[in-house]
Formats: sequence, structure tokens, C-alpha cells
Amino acid sequence: MKNRMNMNLRDVENLLKEYGVQASAQRIAICHHVLTTNTHPTVDDVKAWADDNFPKMSLATVYNTLNLLSDVGLLKTLKFPHSDKAHFDGDSSAHFHFLDEETGTIYDIPSEKMQYQLDLPKGFILSEVDFLVKGKYLG
Ligand SMILES: [Zn+2]
Repeated sequence: MKNRMNMNLRDVENLLKEYGVQASAQRIAICHHVLTTNTHPTVDDVKAWADDNFPKMSLATVYNTLNLLSDVGLLKTLKFPHSDKAHFDGDSSAHFHFLDEETGTIYDIPSEKMQYQLDLPKGFILSEVDFLVKGKYLG
């Protein structure tokens, strides 16, 4: 897959088809927006963006599209302790998150930048590792 940050609308249209999603103009626009940002937006964030760019797009369309894209694996749905809303991540590959506790900004941490050692209870195998690192900016 092409670097998601450099995708154009045509790339996203092809990607949707690859994932078996009917590529309507609204779906392409929403998917493109979330794939080319690293801000981990909520439904409300994407709706606010849509209001500036596609004034006729309803909240239901934004909500349903984000959940559809998450269901097929194009986006990841994330929950964070500082927010009771779902956040959508355009990077569906394995990576971790750093939360700025002051601003609520969520930064990506590439998985190769995290080192950890685990001893699982006997008889278990690892299926997923999910870390949230929190901190404050000291300047
Ligand atoms: Zn992320």
C-alpha cells in the first residue's frame, strides 16, 4: 500500500474497492481525510471538518462511514481514558500512542520505538499488545 499520508482521492477510491466498500464521493472524502491525518479524530472532529468542506454531509453519514471503514479494517477505532468518545486512526498497522495529558493530543509511537519484555502466564500466547503512554510537556 502507498504511504497513506500521500494518498490522493483516486488512491483512496481504489483502496475502498480493494476492501469491498462501495466508493461513494462522501466515503472517499471521509476516508481520505482520516487516512491523511494523524490526529486520531472523533466523529465530531470529522463532522466539523465535513461542515467546512462538504456542508451537506450529515452526522449520520460521517458516523456510519467511519464505523464501516473501521469494520473493514481500513481505520482503527481507539478508546482513550481521557475521552469517552471513539477516536479513529488512519494508521491500521501496529503502533502505540502517547497522550499529552494537558492538551489531550495523541501522538503515534512507532512499534519499533517501544521495547518491552513480557512473561505471560503459562499456556498463553500473545495476540496483541496495546500500550498507552502518558506524559506532560515541560518545555
Ligand atoms: Zn495512532
